Amino acid sequence: MSQTGEQGTLYVISAPSGAGKTSLVGEMIRADARLGVSVSHTTRPMRPGEQDGVNYHFISREEFEAMIGRDEFLEHADVFGNYYGTSQVWVEQTLARGRDVILEIDWQGATQVRRLMPHCVSVFIVPPSAAVLRERLVGRGTDAPEVVERRLREAAEECRHALEFDYLVVNDDFAEALSQLLSIVTCQRLRMDRQEVRHAGLLSSLMDGDGA
Ligand code: 5GP
Repeated sequence: MSQTGEQGTLYVISAPSGAGKTSLVGEMIRADARLGVSVSHTTRPMRPGEQDGVNYHFISREEFEAMIGRDEFLEHADVFGNYYGTSQVWVEQTLARGRDVILEIDWQGATQVRRLMPHCVSVFIVPPSAAVLRERLVGRGTDAPEVVERRLREAAEECRHALEFDYLVVNDDFAEALSQLLSIVTCQRLRMDRQEVRHAGLLSSLMDGDGA
């Protein structure tokens, strides 16, 4: 438990690939020391520049299935042929310490988390237009056309679930999108159910008319 007995808030952030979600979440963490991001487990191969234990915990399908069997995931999903999952223990312990936690997960995981933790706050991030998304997914133009087409189909599938989320952030200008995401976090911390715990002493002395 945190010193004040206050639970952190769980944020679920989803986006089609190419929306800038990972960079935005990285900057959110740098900007706010009370935010932490959950490192997921996955069976997909590591990409150049990625580090085990930093970007993901990279594990085999057998290990992943054993973890499912032991009920170690808060949520897990098959995302386009690979398993991805969020460690239940890490999330629960971090929230209990009063830290806010961000899950960067797909819409299927978001659906499961909403059901299990109805107080979570979910945010969907989109690029400013379909043309920009296509440009970002085409990348350096070195991928085969069928790979690009598959990425576009996958992005459209993710976007079809946007309306299930609490907030929508359009990542046109990076700094503005970041500021909007941090505003969502600030708003959440200012909610009365949070503030009445944090400022219980202040509120009761004001209500008692201690200054009169
Ligand atoms: P990538 O392989 O490009 O890093 O991620 C592919 C997709 O998997 C993204 O939509 C990402 O949000 C999602 N993803 C990453 N970690 C998790 C997780 O723990 N659970 C779920 N459900 N999706 C995840």
